[in-house]
Amino acid sequence: MKRIFIALLLIFSVSTVFAQKKLIHCGKLVDVNSGQVLKEMTIVVEGNKIVAVNNGYTRASNGDEVINLKDKTVMPGLMDMHVHIESQSSPNSQIERYTLNPADIAYNAQVYAERTLMAGFTTVRDLGGSGVNVSLRKAIDAGKVVGPKIFTAEKTIATTGGHGDPTNGGRADLIGDPGPKDGVINSYDDAKKAVRQRYKNGADVIKITSTGGVLSVAKDGQGPQFQMDELKGIVETAKEYGFVTAAHAHGDEGMYRAVAAGITSIEHGTFMSERTMEKMIEMGTYYVPTISAGKFVVEKAQIPGYFPPVVVPKALEVGPQIQETFGKAYQKGVKIAFGTDAGVFPHGDNGKEFIYMVEAGMKPLEAIQAATKTAAELLRIYDVVGSLEAGKLADIVAVDGDPTENIETMTEVTFVMKGGKVFKQ
Ligand SMILES: [Zn+2]
Repeated sequence: MKRIFIALLLIFSVSTVFAQKKLIHCGKLVDVNSGQVLKEMTIVVEGNKIVAVNNGYTRASNGDEVINLKDKTVMPGLMDMHVHIESQSSPNSQIERYTLNPADIAYNAQVYAERTLMAGFTTVRDLGGSGVNVSLRKAIDAGKVVGPKIFTAEKTIATTGGHGDPTNGGRADLIGDPGPKDGVINSYDDAKKAVRQRYKNGADVIKITSTGGVLSVAKDGQGPQFQMDELKGIVETAKEYGFVTAAHAHGDEGMYRAVAAGITSIEHGTFMSERTMEKMIEMGTYYVPTISAGKFVVEKAQIPGYFPPVVVPKALEVGPQIQETFGKAYQKGVKIAFGTDAGVFPHGDNGKEFIYMVEAGMKPLEAIQAATKTAAELLRIYDVVGSLEAGKLADIVAVDGDPTENIETMTEVTFVMKGGKVFKQ
């Protein structure tokens, strides 16, 4: 036992003197800044950071480790700006709100987080759950659980009966009257308190539901659900805490209001008008399309009993429209950040969104930029991640073949490194 201990100590002290580097030999490398695919490059990783990106295959010395990705295309770790890491929709979703304890949610979430990282997503923005998401983020940051870096909204903020009111459709004596503490607001003052409560609970970002939505057990799928003073209360307070803000929106009126109030990103954007697109360009608002979620709910709405009856007509109305709107917004020049709404569909299938974006007219390399550079800019962390450059965190993934020639390769990520540590090879 003592001998093992001394041996371990020696290994640790040697590694601190000659910090071992990892040399990643990349057959192709996606440079998201120039929009070029570079050939025969080496990424040098030391500890959790990239220390150099060299032309050619740098030779190893002093026991450096070589990772051979010469037959792969290497790119920055992917970033999904819209997931729900705690849950996954199923015909049981409604009843589970009354049967799952936080510990049950946590065990499920751990599995979803690992699947997400293995699909190549090293960073996600979690746009709403029960509060377990904050604990999950801490456990991942501490290295206790395998998963992506999480920026979480903790609980969504809604208005009474709105999309995101956690008690919609529940039995009267069980649901109570949730308020700002639970993420339900009905005034400017409530909005302030709800944001401050999220800050207190450990949220990283703020998410609101500015219009009706598909999966809530409520009739309206797209009408506005926040008034201007409530939106201002959210955005103004969020700014004071440095929060990035996101607004779920299907209908145009609620969407336009959120953009005008200064929201950071519009989620789904289903019935986005030309006027709203122009306002988004003027305000610098990001659009996070989530085409995958639209496709999934349309498919499942065909299965009798999969969704509660009140959800079915909304799924059929909203679902098919998102991809077309994405195509229009892209042509118009709205800033697009990659996001899927994973959790509506199975975690780990996030990469399918790339295929849908390219189908709607985006170039493959632009879709990869949306999931790296632009996503990092949205989260205001582009100085730390989002490209393969010296000084940034070593969040690096690779696919076999070349995604600029075949976008489907993005659904099968074969190498994952997060913070300099290899999770999949
Ligand atoms: Zn969502």
